[in-house]
Amino acid sequence: MLSAYLESCYENYFDYNATTPISVSCRNGISRAFDFFENPSSRHRRSGKAREIIRLAKKNMANVLGADPSNIFFTSGGTESNNWAIHSALSKYTNNPGQIISSSIEHPSVLSVLQWYCERFGFEVTLIEPTREGSVQVDEVLSSVQDNCQLVTIMAANNETGALQPIDEISKFLDSKGVAVHTDGVQIVGKRQIDVTKSKFDYFSFSAHKFYGPKGIGGLYCKNPETLVPLILGGGQEDGFRSGTENILGISGLAEAAAECLESGETWQNNSNNHKKYLLDRLTASNIEFKVNGSICPTKTLTNTINIQFIGYRAEALAFFLEHDSNHVVSLGSACSNNGNKILSHVLKAMKLTDKQCQSSMRISIGRYTSRRSVDNLVDTLKKALNHLASVDL
Ligand code: PLP
Repeated sequence: MLSAYLESCYENYFDYNATTPISVSCRNGISRAFDFFENPSSRHRRSGKAREIIRLAKKNMANVLGADPSNIFFTSGGTESNNWAIHSALSKYTNNPGQIISSSIEHPSVLSVLQWYCERFGFEVTLIEPTREGSVQVDEVLSSVQDNCQLVTIMAANNETGALQPIDEISKFLDSKGVAVHTDGVQIVGKRQIDVTKSKFDYFSFSAHKFYGPKGIGGLYCKNPETLVPLILGGGQEDGFRSGTENILGISGLAEAAAECLESGETWQNNSNNHKKYLLDRLTASNIEFKVNGSICPTKTLTNTINIQFIGYRAEALAFFLEHDSNHVVSLGSACSNNGNKILSHVLKAMKLTDKQCQSSMRISIGRYTSRRSVDNLVDTLKKALNHLASVDL
């Protein structure tokens, strides 16, 4: 059961792509691990309980991804996993740098690593642009592959628009071609079914705080662990691939969050799709002028994400009103790349939106604790905000 305080916090929360609340069973998982304080690497019998937590978490996460537990490695989250996969794929080629293919809508934890490899070693990056709907096209990716291509890294679902990327087809095609394929799967876990084995990915990144687990814990699936090149050396934890005493509290929380993804993932997806449709219907019925950035088709986009332009209004002003009027939380661009800077979204720019259209856009992301009533409240407050802003004399 949620406390009344938490219920009121979740009521007006529409920023699930930035992070999710920690679920009740994840909280229980974390607090259970308080009792197993022993170091999992110690040799005494008592440390076996801590090792058991890691074993369970790998098993649960492997079930979510369709993988074997021996191919799952824990990290501090999506950023580290993306860095690690790219480093593992490219470090053997630093004396013979070739082509990397990626997209212009990746998260900064991919784009900035690629830029570093380019500047430092001379790799050549081909960035594929998305269509106006926000997805890259398979043909364009595949026809860009040159003989010296060493890595393709394309996200599974975009964090700002929810647009699904055709990484499955790309990966299956490249499987026999000797090109490593990495996908940043951070936004897709818990929202769609995944089978990393069938999809033939070499590397797949995930992060627990995007699926109701704790922050600071995530991981990397790796098809051939012998290709992993450690970023962190030391005592040889994680089969020698990622040193440092394991984050048992985080890992225990992740174990529960992963188990819940398997149990209820489909229900959440249906619920969020219904809420999304309801939200769009209510906006239309309220005569609010808006345009969705990207597709609303559930086969093309995450069912929980709506990136929307409020035509003729600054989204920043709307978000300010929403928060100050009734504590509503939405997002302007990606929380990870904002860091206080007012930079226009590189994702919306890549989809060819004008500066004005970018400035009118906000991301509304819904999740497990969103209710019909909370959608009603959001639309009512948006109406109030739009009326208020329309009446302000400049
Ligand atoms: N990749 C994507 C698509 C994300 O949305 C995020 C976080 O927003 C990350 C990577 C980074 O994950 P973490 O916050 O676990 O470092």
